[in-house]
Formats: sequence, structure tokens, C-alpha cells
Amino acid sequence: MTEKTASQAPATVPSDHIMAVYSRTPLAFERGEGARLYTTDGESYLDCMAGIAVNALGHANPKLVAVLKEQAEKLWHVSNIFTIPAQERLAKALTDATFADVVFFGNSGSEAIECAIKTARKYHWKNGQPERIDIIGFEGSFHGRTLGAINASGNPNYLEGFGPPLPGFVHLPFGDLDAIKAAVGPTTAAIILEPVQGEGGARAWPDAMLKAIRELCDETGTLLIYDEIQCGLGRSGKLFAHEWVEGAAPDIMAVAKALGGGFPVGACLATAEAAKGMTVGSHGSTYGGNPLAMAVGEASLAELVKPELMAHVREVAGYFTQQFSGLRERYPDVIEDIRGKGLLIGLKLKTPNREFMQHAREQHLLIAGGGDNCVRLLPPLNLTIEEASEAVGKLERACETARAKAKAATQAKTPA
Ligand SMILES: *Cc1c(COP(=O)(O)O)cnc(C)c1O
Repeated sequence: MTEKTASQAPATVPSDHIMAVYSRTPLAFERGEGARLYTTDGESYLDCMAGIAVNALGHANPKLVAVLKEQAEKLWHVSNIFTIPAQERLAKALTDATFADVVFFGNSGSEAIECAIKTARKYHWKNGQPERIDIIGFEGSFHGRTLGAINASGNPNYLEGFGPPLPGFVHLPFGDLDAIKAAVGPTTAAIILEPVQGEGGARAWPDAMLKAIRELCDETGTLLIYDEIQCGLGRSGKLFAHEWVEGAAPDIMAVAKALGGGFPVGACLATAEAAKGMTVGSHGSTYGGNPLAMAVGEASLAELVKPELMAHVREVAGYFTQQFSGLRERYPDVIEDIRGKGLLIGLKLKTPNREFMQHAREQHLLIAGGGDNCVRLLPPLNLTIEEASEAVGKLERACETARAKAKAATQAKTPA
């Protein structure tokens, strides 16, 4: 007879009771502090993925912990039919800091994307052009996992088996301005892109191209949607990645991840003009913008807008870039290319990226995977130079392992 009790259930074995959509590493963490994570058996790891660009201020950031605790004792949830003062304050802070005039709050990146797509289509409908429904997206993009988001990104792996692709979505290769110019037509509603692609392997759109796309949108009355869910909120070394390019602001922007620093918060930002179709009753969310989320969001944003934090991100990013070009010179058989912007760094590898992540993990360094055989570093933005240097040392040893494995594999293939 087997009796299941909590203490008998090993925490690290894949669950029979969780939908099997993730391939999970048998590693369970119990607590975190800054860029360190500690497993249930007390081992420490250097975290250079930060919950995939979420824990931008590090784990258990004392300021975020304090506001969350304080709010938890006052009020969690009321409903958006009431005025939520913290929501108004966070919306004001976000609009003060950006191109936007208005904000809708949700609980995730995908929800922010849904709102962005709906806002764009409703804008044209309101303008008396209901035929303008097409959302143009790009190869290598990632916009989330809802039906709208997978259709916007067009990644065949994520669409397969989920019924026919939805109408009103167009997909183009990355970085081909001529293809974009040819595709924009009388049924185009919006272009959606990540100024720096995250999951696609830390690919940044060239500055001049972002500017050209903005101009094309202006000429054709097309709305420009940025997905800054991963590259935004300080990760690039500016509050938003598109701010590196003058005159390339969007009409609508989706943000999430770092906004709650680990608490689920997403937001769709828009100009008043772009949001003019989003009238009473046209959209909503039960949890979006609840007092708990807003308390953390306010405290998070207050840190993320600090110029000294952005200067720090640029400094650490500069250090990494320099160190990684050294690594590439020493391990040209392992590292092919270095990409990204700020602390969204991609290393395109010549050896399998999944194996490389494992080699890094053996060094107690956590990094993320990415498309195009990349691994990504997405550390907390307040990672110190000492921690960055520790990460470089661990990556060097991971490169050594990858090289040794590749050599052993070729030797096994070559007859003696
Ligand atoms: C993570 C991510 C999303 C989806 O966010 P969820 O919170 O998982 O729904 C969308 N776009 C980008 C660029 C992301 O990195």
C-alpha cells in the first residue's frame, strides 16, 4: 500500500499531476536573495536569468518585500468597478515616463499583448475602417501563449495542433524592410515587434530600421506596437529599448515581466489617439490592476526609472561585452556570436545550447536558452561587477566542458 504524504513526495521529480508542457530541470529553490538562489538542500546558484527577465531588482528585494507585506495587511482585491488609487498612480508614473497617455493593467505579458492587438483593431474600426485588421509580426518573435499571441508571433511550433491559424495575422522575415513595405496595405492594422527579440535569441532590430518602420507607419496610418515585455523596463540600459532610437516611439506598447519584479503585473500602454476605440465595456480584467499588484508595481517602477540604475546596467553590460569577446576569441569552437542589448545578452553557440545550459548549471550558474541555438543572460539589473565577473569565470569553465565534449564526440566518430 502506498500512501502519499507531502514529506514523501520528492520535490524534484516531474509531477504526475501537472500538465506536461514544461521539460523541468530537477532543481528546486527555496529562497533567493539578490542574484543568489538557494536550493532546498542549501546549495547556492548565481542567477543570470532572473526568472526570465522578471526579477529585475533581484530576489527578495527588501523594498518590494516591504510594500507587498504592508499592502497584504490592508487590501488585496476590490474589482475594477471601483477606483483604485494605486492603479491611477502607477498609470501616471508609466505615462510620465513614456510616449503613452493611457494604460490598461493585466496580469501577464500575454494579456498585455491581447490588449494591444484589440486596441489596434478597435482604433481602425472606430475610424470607419473595420477592414484594417491585419497584424504584421516577425519570424523569431515571441509574444506569449494565448491564441492571439501565438498567432501574432506565427511560430509554427506554438501554433501546431491548435486549430487553423486565425485570420488577420501576417508574418514576415526578421529585418527585411522591403518585405514590410510590400506587406503594408489597405487591410493592415498594425505592425508588432520586439525592439530586441528575447526568446528568438537576443536579436536587436537595427536602429535605422526601427526609424524607417515608424515612418512607414506614419505614412500609411498603421499603428506601431512594441512588445517590450522582455527588453523593456531598464534591461537595455534605458527605461525602454526603443528609446535608444530617436523618433521611433510606438503607438501601443506591451510591458510585463520586470514591472512586478516577480509579482504578476502586465500593462498595455497607448497614446490617447490609439486607444480611442477602447471605451467602456470594450475590455476588462478581474484581477488586472489589483491593489497588491499595483503596490509592487509602483515600488518596482520607482527603482527602474532611476538614472543611476540605468548607468549601472550599461556599465555591467559593457563589462560583459568586453569579457565575452575575449571568451569568443579563446573559444571560437564554442561561441559563434554575441548579441543583444544591455543586460539582454545572447551568446550564439556552435555546440548545443541546451547542453551548454547544463554545463553552466554544473558551475552553479543559471542562464536561459533561446532560439537560433543561443543561450541568454538576463541577470538582475543590480548585478554587481563582482557577480558579473564570477559569472564570466563560470561561463569560461562551461566553454571548457563544451569544447571537451565536442572533441570527445569527434574522436568517437574518427576511426583509430
Ligand atoms: C515573456 C514574454 C511574453 C509573454 O509574457 P507572459 O507573462 O508569459 O504571458 C510576451 N512577449 C515577450 C517579448 C516576452 O518575453
